[in-house]
Amino acid sequence: MSVFENAKQNLEKASKYMNLSDGEKELLLNHKIIHKARLNVNGKGYDAWRIIHNDALGPGKGGIRFHPNVSEDEVKSLSFWMSLKNSLAGIPYGGAKGGVKVNPKDLSKEEIEEVSRAYVRAFHRYIGQDKDIPAPDVYTNPQVMAWMLDEYERIKGRHEPGMITGKPVELGGCEIRGYATSKGGKIILNFFLDKIDEKREGTRVVIQGFGNAGMNIAKMLFEDGYKIIAVSDSKGGIMNLDGLDIKEVIKIKEEKKSVTQYSKGKRVTNKELLELDTDVLVLAALENQITKENADNIKAKYILELANGPITYEADEILNNKNIKVIPDILANSGGVIVSYCEWVQNRTGQIFSKEYMENILKEKLERSFNKTYNLYKERNVSLRMAAYMIAMERILKAEKSRGNLD
Ligand code: NAD
Repeated sequence: MSVFENAKQNLEKASKYMNLSDGEKELLLNHKIIHKARLNVNGKGYDAWRIIHNDALGPGKGGIRFHPNVSEDEVKSLSFWMSLKNSLAGIPYGGAKGGVKVNPKDLSKEEIEEVSRAYVRAFHRYIGQDKDIPAPDVYTNPQVMAWMLDEYERIKGRHEPGMITGKPVELGGCEIRGYATSKGGKIILNFFLDKIDEKREGTRVVIQGFGNAGMNIAKMLFEDGYKIIAVSDSKGGIMNLDGLDIKEVIKIKEEKKSVTQYSKGKRVTNKELLELDTDVLVLAALENQITKENADNIKAKYILELANGPITYEADEILNNKNIKVIPDILANSGGVIVSYCEWVQNRTGQIFSKEYMENILKEKLERSFNKTYNLYKERNVSLRMAAYMIAMERILKAEKSRGNLD
């Protein structure tokens, strides 16, 4: 089943709980704008997309992914999840996403710059601070955002830093954006464990994915006294039941490019890592990691979805039946876009916010969305994912109704 077909099933399920009309469901199931281009760089061609799922709440907002498996179906799913995430977070954005089907690991730095600039040349008419605002995602980073901003401003002949977020600080980015997704994930995990009276100290954690999201949360949870027993990247994983020294693992990852080079642990495959006996499993890599094939073997008590869509619909049902609590992506990884919102406000108003101010906004917004989700989860006796979907969908539909797009 395609990623989007899979994603749609959660929407269909939430629609039933909400008694949505066919018109309301149709509106949420369909994307507003799909742009596709072929980027030509140094004699090679790459497929690229920018898709807005819904823009009733404000301009589109969502990252750009560079990955060899990017497809229209994947970008459709990611933009749909962005609509829900932005709505749940209570920020004035619709949902969008972009991607280029490219393996940046095969390219030189100069070629990555060329792909980034070619992306903006292809889509500059459709992006902008009041239209659609990109940000980093898998295998893109502040440097890529800087090249994109520069190309955009050259084409438009004016400065417009609010057209993209996740920029380097000197171009109007904010210091905390780099770790905001992970910080948000940690805050949400702590809220959840506090609600169910679980301690943090010594709580075992397994983390799949060791990039921006996975590595930063590993560092934060390690510093807070959680016991990180296994981590992985695309090359495989490493495990130590006595706990990994995450600071050393980060050093090895930076020096040797993979956590698998860390010597004080046992090598595990990504498949084995997902099935380890642990309290918390953090998914911080890609979609479709837990499927109906491995869901029965999952032993974690709680799963934090820092990645977007890492659990398929069928697997989610199996985990629910096993009473494994899943903290859903649209809540767990919303810290990044909340701080992107601060960056955008800063760029548009010319103000400069302090780190403390932005961290407060992050915590306040997460507390509000967590409490709303948790209360509805208890009240309706549904999964946390269904509660989060219902809150997010309702806000989008209200905006569509106010605009006169729905009866
Ligand atoms: P990244 O490119 O910084 O890191 C991705 C990591 O995943 C790398 O360590 C890579 O080695 C690993 N990986 C890739 N394939 C893997 C596999 N099959 N098994 C295990 N590990 C694998 O990307 P990121 O920004 O950390 O994004 C990770 C996930 O978090 C994505 O789903 C992304 O959409 C989501 N997310 C990121 C942000 C953000 O601000 N960075 C915000 C919200 C959601």
